[in-house]
Amino acid sequence: MTALAAGIDVGGTKILGVVVDPEDPTTIVAAQRVPTPRGGDALLDAVTELVRALETSVGAIGVVGVGIPGLVDQDDVLRVGPNLPAVVDYPFGTAFRERLGVEVSVDNDATCAVWGEHRAGAGRDVADLVLVTLGTGIGAGIVAGGRLQHGANGFAGEPGHMIVDPHGPPCPCGRRGCWERFASGSGLGRIARDAALAGQLDRVVELAGDAELVRGEHVTAAAHEGDAGALAVIDRFAWWVALGIANLVNLLDPALVVLGGGLVEMGALLLAPTRASYDGLVMAGDRRPPVPIVVAGLGEQAGAIGAALLAADDA
Ligand SMILES: [Zn+2]
Repeated sequence: MTALAAGIDVGGTKILGVVVDPEDPTTIVAAQRVPTPRGGDALLDAVTELVRALETSVGAIGVVGVGIPGLVDQDDVLRVGPNLPAVVDYPFGTAFRERLGVEVSVDNDATCAVWGEHRAGAGRDVADLVLVTLGTGIGAGIVAGGRLQHGANGFAGEPGHMIVDPHGPPCPCGRRGCWERFASGSGLGRIARDAALAGQLDRVVELAGDAELVRGEHVTAAAHEGDAGALAVIDRFAWWVALGIANLVNLLDPALVVLGGGLVEMGALLLAPTRASYDGLVMAGDRRPPVPIVVAGLGEQAGAIGAALLAADDA
């Protein structure tokens, strides 16, 4: 057996750690989850303790990969992370290597996730694929010609901040009308609240208690009951999801688009209208081979498994 690899996926609210044998990455040898603390030093402590705890259950770990939401440069420094507001220019790579005493690779979380899907998930053996995670925000990773794409600085794959409406709502990144303002969980909530305040969502408002309190989960619940207003909101939301995917396909010409993140739990309710809108939004849709849009095969573990595999590949 090769040395075990730990993969750590740092999320906005929780940190997931898994241990895998790189030869058999879909078998999770151990997994643990802890809350994400605030601040770089506290995050360093939390990940160190998590790796130590995983070692206690599985024995020695050979390499560690860490996926962090934000711009991670080629020296493994986190430049900025919108979901880690208290952490700027933090040299996680150096700090983790000192603390853990093993090789550590640090990368963007969605970049790790696309590698996990490419090596062991829905995109196995697919040389050209894009992964888009639809959660509180939007993350993405790109594999082109079988190679993970980092860009010149390590910052490739941030389509969540492609501007799709220059007059759109403000984004935490400081600009307006970014794709993730429309096609993330918070985007769904905003589209739904606008419809609720316009009096179009009686059943959804009933479930939420008040139009101002409407969130994505209320829309999903009403849509499962067949409520026409909720289904119309999801159609509108899916159009925005499809718009960004079509832009990515126009740019990168992937063979496959993999969707991850919490919103894919909506299943066919989201996927069917997204695929339908996509066909009309991609350039020359009737002249190109269809691009399957599928759900991540590794589910919420894609980022952690991908981080472990990246670390093992780098070793
Ligand atoms: Zn933005």
